[in-house]
Amino acid sequence: MADKQVMELRWDPILREWVLVSNIRRFRPWQPTNYCPFCPGGPETGYGWRALILENKYPMLMENPPEPSNHWFYLTAKSVGKCYVVVETPEHNIDDLSDLPTDQIEYVLRMIINKAREESGKDYAYYFLWFRNKGREIGVSLTHPHSQIYVLPFIPSRVEREIESAREYFAKNGKCLFCDVINAEVRDGVRIIYENEHWVSFMPFYSHWPFEVHIYPRRHVQLIMELTDEEVRSLALALKVSLCGLTHLFRSKSMPYILVLHQAPLKGSYPFYHLHIEIYGILREEDKMKYAAGMEVGGGNFTYDAVPEENAQRLRDSVLRNCV
Ligand SMILES: [Zn+2]
Ligand SMILES: [Zn+2]
Ligand SMILES: [Zn+2]
Repeated sequence: MADKQVMELRWDPILREWVLVSNIRRFRPWQPTNYCPFCPGGPETGYGWRALILENKYPMLMENPPEPSNHWFYLTAKSVGKCYVVVETPEHNIDDLSDLPTDQIEYVLRMIINKAREESGKDYAYYFLWFRNKGREIGVSLTHPHSQIYVLPFIPSRVEREIESAREYFAKNGKCLFCDVINAEVRDGVRIIYENEHWVSFMPFYSHWPFEVHIYPRRHVQLIMELTDEEVRSLALALKVSLCGLTHLFRSKSMPYILVLHQAPLKGSYPFYHLHIEIYGILREEDKMKYAAGMEVGGGNFTYDAVPEENAQRLRDSVLRNCV
């Protein structure tokens, strides 16, 4: 049993969500600790590139996964999909995505968009999740600037909840819930972090994490492939400024964060959905981390030890001081 390789999706019938199960990472070969697989000149990377999308060598999902186990009671499914690593620059010693020039961030975004377009044609591809983990606190072991893509055979739970809220709101009010959230944030103004012609970045009224930032396109649009060239260009700037404010908020410590792109599923029609990026900065203060613990993980509701309006003011100050 111990040496059996398992890779499958297991259904939690109580919370009604999938768990990605795999013990294949345990078979990862040993590597010297100072070796970086994302630097130029490696067996997978080569030379002469600005950014790269590589297949994750130890994926949770594969195009041709093993057959899932057959359980007499529980439901399982194949871990079919793709896991990619986005190497955002050839330069190893860069702290954050926001330290790259805007045109490099734009280049990375275009690569991700092309990958989404390519994957959307695949049978298994129900969802394209781009995310970025920053900092050792989040468990990032490789410091070379990179993010990840999971092409999933199902819609992730949080997005499913958003879809259901937006569907109901649209049925009841005849308009987009997210558009109304943007309007409320712009009208209040006090939680806005950055705005340009195409994008609005704010700390939501209902923030869960201490320094949570959401970035929305002003235009009601569902998928990143549908963004215009101009929208992609100004997204690069909105991302750069928002992340710069966040990572420079504390003088002696770069903010660890999780960034995720929420967009519509690749299959089906979701005209009431509105794509956006969510960023969760997890430090409350320079030396105080917000842990998701008993209440948050056990109960499912967050506690917020400040008010978002105050933290938005601090983040805006950081943007003005460090990023513009
Ligand atoms: Zn490197
Ligand atoms: Zn909308
Ligand atoms: Zn979202």
